[in-house]
Amino acid sequence: MTARIISGAAIAGRIREELKTEIAELKERHGIVPGLATIIVGEDPASQSYVNSKVKACQALGIFSLNHPLPGSTLESDLLALVDTLNCDHRISGILVQVPLPEHIDESKVLVAISPEKDVDGFHPVSVGRMVIGQPTFLSCTPAGIQQLLLRSGIKTSGSEVVIVGRSNIVGKPVANILMQKAQGANATVTICHSATRDIAAHTRRADILIAAIGQPRFITADMVKPGATVIDVGTNEIGKTAEGKRILCGDVDFDNVKAVAGAITPVPGGVGPMTIVMLMANTVKAAKLAHGIS
Ligand code: NDP
Repeated sequence: MTARIISGAAIAGRIREELKTEIAELKERHGIVPGLATIIVGEDPASQSYVNSKVKACQALGIFSLNHPLPGSTLESDLLALVDTLNCDHRISGILVQVPLPEHIDESKVLVAISPEKDVDGFHPVSVGRMVIGQPTFLSCTPAGIQQLLLRSGIKTSGSEVVIVGRSNIVGKPVANILMQKAQGANATVTICHSATRDIAAHTRRADILIAAIGQPRFITADMVKPGATVIDVGTNEIGKTAEGKRILCGDVDFDNVKAVAGAITPVPGGVGPMTIVMLMANTVKAAKLAHGIS
């Protein structure tokens, strides 16, 4: 048996087409153009490349984008003032502050300064709180992308055993919350494992859906996977560079061996990665609609 490959690239492509239509309709019927403001502080190449991809994705879909590259020496007070200006800018539906921020800036202060109505990254405590209690909100992009991958691949979550390895605030915890919710019928039974979990394999072997968000190359091996399970690999680990200097990536799952056991699996690259950016675009469109009272 070899697992069905869940192509995040293909699913993200379909969502992009849906968004293009939605954006064109918003413009035609209501004269609305969604707008995304990105802020990057400092010159970290990985962060620059993430922000560039987000700006490019906006351009491809017809979303107005405004990038603010700021020097690494920017004062926290100046960054907070910029966020405040963008909170009041009617062209801007969503604000994204690329993290990590330099050490002299308190990340939590900045994330809280973003208006929850423009919190398209879904990191504001108000957005997180709404998610936990099952209210409509902006879901953070990677977890929302994982939910879409499952939904659009016909993988049933209701009543399923979901095991997540990793408990970060940006992946593990929110994806657990989303998949356990009654509100949209996700209804999974969720277990979260982390570095203090005693016997991780004992948990992962029970999983109908196994989600790996650890940051350790090929951590999940074939003997840790129940035959026929769905395996979602969030890991994006750089394991080297090509002769041309391109990053060589591998996931948290030992893909070549696990695909012989699993029923369905996401590849790295081309799995969860492409979903994250498209969900940011979807949140920006949603923010624009909410700001204009369009449901
Ligand atoms: P974090 O480092 O914030 O969290 C990693 C989690 O994994 C922690 O909860 C940690 O446990 C747990 N963990 C680490 N090592 C082990 C171990 N040996 N055994 C059990 N648990 C372990 O990472 P992120 O959640 O931010 O990211 C995880 C991976 O996903 C990374 O490779 C990252 O690059 C990738 N990623 C990909 C995205 C995409 O769009 N494709 C988006 C975001 C992340 P503890 O809490 O106990 O320390």
